[in-house]
Amino acid sequence: MLSSTEFNEEAQTEPERTCGCPYGICDGSGHYLVNKPEGLFAKKCKCYEEQVIYNKLDFAQIPKEFQNLAIKDFDIDIYKLEESKVKASRAVSVSKKYVDKFEKMQELGRGLYFYSKEAGSGKTRLAVSIGNSLVKYKKQHVRFITTVDLLGKIRDSWNDKSGSSEEALVEEFVTIPVLILDDIGVEGNKDWINNIFYRIINRRLTNKKVTLITSNIPMNKLGFDYRLINRLEDMVMQVVMPEESVRRTKAKSKNEEMLKELMG
Ligand SMILES: [Zn+2]
Repeated sequence: MLSSTEFNEEAQTEPERTCGCPYGICDGSGHYLVNKPEGLFAKKCKCYEEQVIYNKLDFAQIPKEFQNLAIKDFDIDIYKLEESKVKASRAVSVSKKYVDKFEKMQELGRGLYFYSKEAGSGKTRLAVSIGNSLVKYKKQHVRFITTVDLLGKIRDSWNDKSGSSEEALVEEFVTIPVLILDDIGVEGNKDWINNIFYRIINRRLTNKKVTLITSNIPMNKLGFDYRLINRLEDMVMQVVMPEESVRRTKAKSKNEEMLKELMG
């Protein structure tokens, strides 16, 4: 699960967006009016496309610290072990090609499964970087959610006070074109969990929706029903990540940088 203490990397957030137009052309709506002899016409402003992307990124619900990550910024040199660098550069290369060939991948409904036993090895970073690229360059609707949050929402739906039904929630997660499912396997193996995942995964597979998954457990060792594992194996290709945590390395080097600044 993600928590702010686990990811104490410097947040790379976007500059704050004002409600107006960044070019000072329209009123911020993405359109402006042109007065012509025939009457008033609405024209698309320069900022319109950016707004479309911004809205899609907003929809994606990617955690703040990951929002601006790009695949090209994924730093291989942060890993200390040679073996890790090799694995990481292979994973980055797969990710880049995946985005390049996305139209074909989408046609096949094929996604990726980032696995390493070690937490903090860069799985979520890379999956989210792909998601960001798909929003920006392939105009896709992407949604990020941890499996713990997803199951939490389902559990809440059993409560009468909750606004939506279990089936409506399953349907919501079935129809999202690109779903990033973070940290599958931590939720344990209860019948209802297996059932929810099966319904979502099976229907996503049937509808050829793209799913990107991260996990600390290899796909074939997930404690789910074999039918669910089979569906997963049909749907996602496993990418092995380094068995090295870079979370602490990153935090440490940030601290050293700051200390230098204070002493300089
Ligand atoms: Zn504008």
